[in-house]
Amino acid sequence: MKVLLTGSAGFVGSHLTERLLQGGHRVTGVDNYISGQHRNTELFLDHPNFSFIEADVSRGIPVPTGKADKFDWVLHFASPASPPHYQQNQIETLMVGAQGTQNALELARSQGASFMLASTSEVYGDPHVHPQPESYWGHVNPNGLRSCYDEAKRYAEAITFAYQRTHGLDTRVIRIFNTYGPRMRADDGRVVTNLVHQALRGEALTVYGDGSQTRSFQYVSDLVEGVLRLMDVSSLGSDLHGPVNLGNPDEYSILEFATVIRELLGEGLKIEFRPLPQDDPMQRRPDITRARALLGWQPGVPLREGLRRMIGDLQAPPGLREQPSLREQPSLQEKGRGTRIAAGAD
Ligand code: UDP
Repeated sequence: MKVLLTGSAGFVGSHLTERLLQGGHRVTGVDNYISGQHRNTELFLDHPNFSFIEADVSRGIPVPTGKADKFDWVLHFASPASPPHYQQNQIETLMVGAQGTQNALELARSQGASFMLASTSEVYGDPHVHPQPESYWGHVNPNGLRSCYDEAKRYAEAITFAYQRTHGLDTRVIRIFNTYGPRMRADDGRVVTNLVHQALRGEALTVYGDGSQTRSFQYVSDLVEGVLRLMDVSSLGSDLHGPVNLGNPDEYSILEFATVIRELLGEGLKIEFRPLPQDDPMQRRPDITRARALLGWQPGVPLREGLRRMIGDLQAPPGLREQPSLREQPSLQEKGRGTRIAAGAD
């Protein structure tokens, strides 16, 4: 398959690129490095099936035209995703969710490709329904500090559905819950990176508010597995277009999460309480009933195991850090459907 991936230099984009190349697919990555990293592109530049276009997808996606270049899939993953990053780039975040999504949809339409939108658990806002099923409409502040991201993704979902209904485009929408792993930016500002790096430096762990707010943390390889299964599911004729939650239902308060970090990196680490940011969701946990039924998917990497892998990668010598494994893996079809539920983490 030939895949165009926006946001290829981002944390999730780089892992998705790796798995697609392992599957023998051709990947054209697009990124403007607003929050992605050059080194995530450099990891793959020598691979014969990888090419890269530096561009802001909000302004257009400059792909070469011609029959030989037709894509089978357009995967739209470009966007700042950590609260500090999207709050520093509020207009760009709104634009990539709005114009960027429409440009990606138009590209898919013109090429006869299928389309996938990386949406987010943020569409549920500070949820009043717990855990969150896809049928929940959410509780979102339309103009607060998080609105540039939340409302951009809600609009992105709306226009994706509009293209599906109006043009019959083959679309998929995933809602990604908190995800972590190697290749996250050290200055990403999210709780996993902040606390892991603070602990490795022997500094106090910053907990916002009283730490009673909850999150559910998914290791990145579980997310990527879910994405690949959803791309592969077209032949089943199920309700493919509806959003699919991809996250780990194992729920932790932020204070419990800090305790896990202390257990792994030093019981003596202090905790420093800081003010709770505006509109910080108080609880978040995915209901993954739909992903289980549609994809035979559930997360397989428990939190401590995923953190050990991430910390091991950070502690590896510089030349060995964040390196992809590009050995080809059997394709999803060859592996066979229905037998791929990993050992349960929840
Ligand atoms: N948080 C924290 N300490 C930090 C960074 C974040 O306590 O150093 C909290 C934050 O207030 C939120 C949760 O951890 O309640 C998850 O925040 P993150 O930025 O990782 O992602 P979010 O799920 O809010 O988008």
